[in-house]
Amino acid sequence: MDMDYNNFLKNITEIEKRIIKICKECKRNPEDITLLPVTKNHGPFAVEFVSQYGLKAIGENRIQETESKKPLVKSSVKWELIGHLQSNKTKRAVELFDRIQTVDRIKLVKSLSKQLEQINKSMPILIQINSGEDPSKYGATVNNAPYLLEAALKSRYLKVEGLMTVAPIECDNFCAIDSFKKLKVLRDQLEEKFQVALPVLSMGMTSDMDEAIKAGSTMIRIGTALFGDRVYA
Ligand SMILES: *Cc1c(COP(=O)(O)O)cnc(C)c1O
Repeated sequence: MDMDYNNFLKNITEIEKRIIKICKECKRNPEDITLLPVTKNHGPFAVEFVSQYGLKAIGENRIQETESKKPLVKSSVKWELIGHLQSNKTKRAVELFDRIQTVDRIKLVKSLSKQLEQINKSMPILIQINSGEDPSKYGATVNNAPYLLEAALKSRYLKVEGLMTVAPIECDNFCAIDSFKKLKVLRDQLEEKFQVALPVLSMGMTSDMDEAIKAGSTMIRIGTALFGDRVYA
């Protein structure tokens, strides 16, 4: 059952209040935190709601779902890929998305660069790090991050804007905050080492957004708290 706009409005207002409350607790400016609504497993209506509310971007995790949803959406928003990207799908990814948050290996850097060169388009990206060292999660290791960043910085078609992580599954709040703090430390080290700005720290979802904001997140990716439980087909 699709939700209606009033429901969405109630949910998003609550999330925004929560961001303000947490920011007050940790003395941050709420304007430094971007809310990225995650519309995966919800119809085109979810993207229209986001746009109607005035936000400019949404997150999707699958190429195929985005391919079928995007043509049905009338409003203009930025589409961000937040799910794992296979190297053989980079051609479609660069056509569909405005930013790719899940660049996690050198092979992908090369493949994306090649596809972007062919259409002469540049692509903002985030580097995904498995900072919680969850064997079931994608993302480069903290140790491999410098090599991956070095490769990405060499590509004239990729614009590295920061780092992204997903906290481990079966992770309590302490373990989540630990993986978020590690991401921020890594970001600071990489900025220093490569003398580049990596302003975006994409971390925090419905269940761990408080911890992420306290640890320095600049972008929380929220699905469930905005649109309710996802119905998996
Ligand atoms: C689904 C997803 C989210 C949103 O998760 P919720 O718990 O529904 O807020 C955030 N980030 C990624 C990478 C996701 O796949």
